[in-house]
Formats: sequence, structure tokens, C-alpha cells
Amino acid sequence: MHEPKTYDVAVVGGGIVGCATAMALAERHSLSLALLEAETRLAAHQTGNNSGVIHSGLYYKPGSLKATNCTRGREAMYRFCRDNGIAHERCGKIVVATRPEEIPRLDELERRGRANGLAEIRRLTPAAIREHEPHCSGIDGLWVPYTGIVDFVGVTEAYGRIVKERGGEVLTSARVMGMRRDNGAFALETTGGAVRCRNLVNCAGLQSDRVAELCGVAPGLQIVPFRGEYYEIVPGRQHLVRNLIYPVPDPAFPFLGVHFTRMVKGGVEAGPNAVLAFKREGYRKTDISPRDVLTYALFPGFWRMAAQHWRMGVGEMVRSFSKRAFVEALQRLLPDLRMDDVHAAGAGVRAQALDRSGKLLDDFRIVEAERMVHVLNAPSPAATASIAIGQSVAEMAARNFGLA
Ligand SMILES: Cc1cc2nc3c(=O)[nH]c(=O)nc-3n(C[C@H](O)[C@H](O)[C@H](O)COP(=O)(O)OP(=O)(O)OC[C@H]3O[C@@H](n4cnc5c(N)ncnc54)[C@H](O)[C@@H]3O)c2cc1C
Repeated sequence: MHEPKTYDVAVVGGGIVGCATAMALAERHSLSLALLEAETRLAAHQTGNNSGVIHSGLYYKPGSLKATNCTRGREAMYRFCRDNGIAHERCGKIVVATRPEEIPRLDELERRGRANGLAEIRRLTPAAIREHEPHCSGIDGLWVPYTGIVDFVGVTEAYGRIVKERGGEVLTSARVMGMRRDNGAFALETTGGAVRCRNLVNCAGLQSDRVAELCGVAPGLQIVPFRGEYYEIVPGRQHLVRNLIYPVPDPAFPFLGVHFTRMVKGGVEAGPNAVLAFKREGYRKTDISPRDVLTYALFPGFWRMAAQHWRMGVGEMVRSFSKRAFVEALQRLLPDLRMDDVHAAGAGVRAQALDRSGKLLDDFRIVEAERMVHVLNAPSPAATASIAIGQSVAEMAARNFGLA
């Protein structure tokens, strides 16, 4: 039988993180590389269903991987888009407090932002909020000029093109289903046929814990899917939002709260909420995978997390099933918004890692094993930070794999 080619490195997952990692690896080394993507196209999951925001680095704990990679990756993203003709705009955003108890949290965001190098953020009075966003009502606010909007699918496709230009292979319809060790190499069984590699990088997003397991690595965490549902403002009312309007997030929860985002391709989205999904790639409320539900329900940390966050979880579920409740949350920021100003749009599903103690992991989590690197938690702002993450994973891989 014909022996498949043995690649120096296989990168599993053709989302923005896998493609950025493959791009960095292909740049730095004259190695043979294959990028393996389960779907028929790149960016089919989190990357292709997100808000399209280039985040500033405001929210993250100073010194965390999120903070350092986001601030570095943000500027690299702007440069990449400019150099490769990808639609983007550095339009800035406002974060708005609508209740007095949110003001200390806004103070903390401002402090974090400055600690993360965002020297140009400015506090906004209610009148200054209205100068930025005439229909927005808030008692205190923050102007963040570093934030922008972008086409992340276009970015990922461009990364993929660069991988090919540098000699790498991009194999779509190649879902990794199994792995065995064979003569010092990994023999991967994929839906597109057998692939052999000497080293492996796992960037499989919603499936990253399972890919680690099938590679014989215990991830020590569980990916829990949280669906983010969007509404879109009807064309005649889009003037209500100029750019991006965000609430002050709840620090106990790793999501930002429903907000308004002008999209780079036109239109204004409202959302996403954060509802526990019953399927990892479950974009509709009716999507249920007994295997996916059972996997997290049997994980020890799940019920601890549920006990801690059930109140928030119920609120999100209500906002998922009731348009009125969703619109009421939005009206705190934009009182002029009416029920018939928005209609349901798409959804994305976040891969959020949960540890055994019931903690939703806040920071990125990258784990090394023999001849392997596993990216196990890469939630927002990983799209913004992708170039920085890709470079650090490639450096880690080069050391681990002994690449020249
Ligand atoms: C609703 C929502 C809004 C967000 N908004 C923003 C934002 O505005 N700005 C921002 O910076 N970030 C945002 N994020 C986060 C961002 O989208 C993710 O952090 C980023 O896309 C993660 O990229 P990834 O490559 O790790 O994952 P993915 O894009 O999910 O890619 C993983 C890939 O692996 C493939 N795969 C899975 N299993 C296998 C297998 N066995 N074999 C081969 N391939 C496999 C999948 O098909 C998929 O294409 C948002 C996320 C969501 C869900």
C-alpha cells in the first residue's frame, strides 16, 4: 500500500488561531507543514461567527496572556489588514455605565486599560457620551479609541493563502478522527484519508479537548459551548448607532454583555448573549447532541459552575427565548430602541474551557506534551490576538519539536 507523506508538522484546525500558527511556522522554518481542517472551508466555526471586533486590550488582567497577546496582536492585525487589503476600520468604542453600582467597575476597567498601555482612553460625562453616540444614555462612560471592526473570515483566508505561498498545504474536509504512534511519527486518521506527521499542534477550538484526548493527552479541562445569539437593527433605524456601544461587563463572568456593533460589511448587530448550548456546534436553539451534553454534565466542575452562575444562566436563557427581554437589556444602553427595530440574526458558539473546580478559565491555555502543543482555551480576544498567539505557539513548537 502507498505510504502517506510524513509532514514535519500538522496543525489541526483551520480557524484563525490554527491558520495564524501555520502561517508563523511556515515563515520561520523550511519545514513541510499540513493544516488540517474538518470542514470544507476555513473559519467555519468561532472565527466565522463572531462579532468582528478588533479588541483593544481593555478588559484583561495586566500581565495575563490575554492582555499581552491582545495589545500586541491588535496592532499586528491593523498592519496585516492594511498590507493585505482586508476590510477594517479603527472606529473606537464606548463603554457605558447605566447604574451607579457599575461606576466602580468602570473605574477598574480604566485602571486595567491604562496598565495594559491604553494611554488614550478617556472618561466620558453623560454629555460626552451623547457626542459620540447621540442616542445612547449613560451616567458615566469610557472612550476607547483603539477598538476597530474587521472581516475575520477575510483575515483567516489571507493567512491560509500565505501558508500555501510559503509551501504549506491546506487540507480541508480532513477531520482528525484518530491518532496512533507509528515509528516515531503520528499516524492521523482523517475524514480525508491518512496523514502522517512528526509533530502536531492542536488548534481545534470547540473540539480542542477531544483532539487532545485522542492524542493521548489529558486536557484536565472541559470545553463547554456557550451560544451567542445576535439581533440585527433594521436598515431604517441603524442611525441609532454610530459605532460600538458596550455595557460595563459583570467581572464574575467571562463574557462582555449584549452590545451594539457596527459591522465592517455594513449593518449593525446587537448581542451576543451567552447561553449554555446543548451541542458544541449548536447554532440553533433546537440543536442538541446527547453526547455533548453528557460530556459536560458528567464533568465534576460543571455542576459547581452551574451552582455559582445559575442566576446569570437563567437570565441569559430568558433573553434567548424572549425577544422582549433581549430588547430590554439593549434599551438600557439605547432607550430609543423599539421591539420592531431589531430582527433575529445569526449565532456563534464560544468554546469556553471549564476546570475541575468549576472555574471558567479566564486566560488562554496552551499546553505542551512530547512533540505536541495543544491550544486548549482561546476565547475572545483570540481572533484579535491571532498573529501574536500564532507567533508564540510557533516559537513554543519550534523549541519543543527541535526545529531549526
Ligand atoms: C459569538 C462570538 C463572538 C466573538 N467576538 C469576537 C470579537 O469580536 N473579537 C475577537 O477577537 N474574538 C471574538 N470571539 C472569539 C474568537 O472568535 C475566537 O477566540 C477565535 O475565533 C478562536 O479561533 P480558533 O481558531 O481557536 O477556533 P475556531 O475558529 O473555532 O477554529 C477551530 C477549527 O478547528 C476545526 N476542527 C475541530 N475539530 C477538528 C478536527 N478533529 N480535525 C480538524 N479540524 C477540526 C473546526 O472545524 C474549526 O474550523 C468571539 C467568539 C464568539 C463565538
